Amino acid sequence: MSARWIEVADGVHVRRHEELDLSLGLVVGNDACLVVDTGGDEVQGAEWAAAVRAVTPLPWTVVLTHAHFDHAFGTQAFLPCPVLAHPNCVDELVIDGAEDKEKWSAHYKTENRPDIAKAIRDTRIVLPDTLVSEPTTVDLGARIVEIAQFGRGHTDHDLVLRVPDADVVFVGDLVENGAPPAFEGSFPASWPTALAGVLELTGPDTVVVPGHGDPVDSAFVAAQRADIAAVVDLARELTAGSVTLAEVLRDSPFPADATRRAIGRLTGRNRSGR
Ligand SMILES: [Zn+2]
Repeated sequence: MSARWIEVADGVHVRRHEELDLSLGLVVGNDACLVVDTGGDEVQGAEWAAAVRAVTPLPWTVVLTHAHFDHAFGTQAFLPCPVLAHPNCVDELVIDGAEDKEKWSAHYKTENRPDIAKAIRDTRIVLPDTLVSEPTTVDLGARIVEIAQFGRGHTDHDLVLRVPDADVVFVGDLVENGAPPAFEGSFPASWPTALAGVLELTGPDTVVVPGHGDPVDSAFVAAQRADIAAVVDLARELTAGSVTLAEVLRDSPFPADATRRAIGRLTGRNRSGR
């Protein structure tokens, strides 16, 4: 798996992967380190763990930003260690984990990537053992990491991590750089509010690390928030009958397939669903 490091601040690293343009995080303190997300399968997780070990021998804590396979299926390689996540993340791994394994394994098989298909199929899904349902901090020694959740957005359990002394924020897939936000299974109507919470943590110089793509700044987050809000408004107008679907697709800031997925999550059928 092709990957490279970016050090976005002293002791705050992002591992950029060619596969899915994934970004995984590492925060190093004096006594411990913190790993943000674990990759998409047990092989990727083991490679990620080895890459972290090449940077630091310190004991690690794992935080999962959310339950999607590419962020949460590589955890096994880090055990034993504390694994933090929102309670709904655990629910999703329990309820959907086995199905997600089948789905993504089949996806990679059709992509003619049998190695990844097998790695996903062979992966043991690890359930987080430390639940984060209200704001908390992890002390790494001369450095703390704050962890918070701002309501439903990309999922109903997106955790956001802030390293205050370094002015870096990890946002998981609440923000995507280089691709439209992933609306499948999302909550578009409350997503802008979640991003308003993220923006509260940022200043003009803050480095914001998305789940996919290169790090961005707060202006990028604000623009993506506005784009998501625009799609929500268009969907409301569509529901009210004041615009046509063709007009929505024309005026949406996102490509048609992403817009359709967002609209699909805003219908009555899905509004209260997962
Ligand atoms: Zn995701």
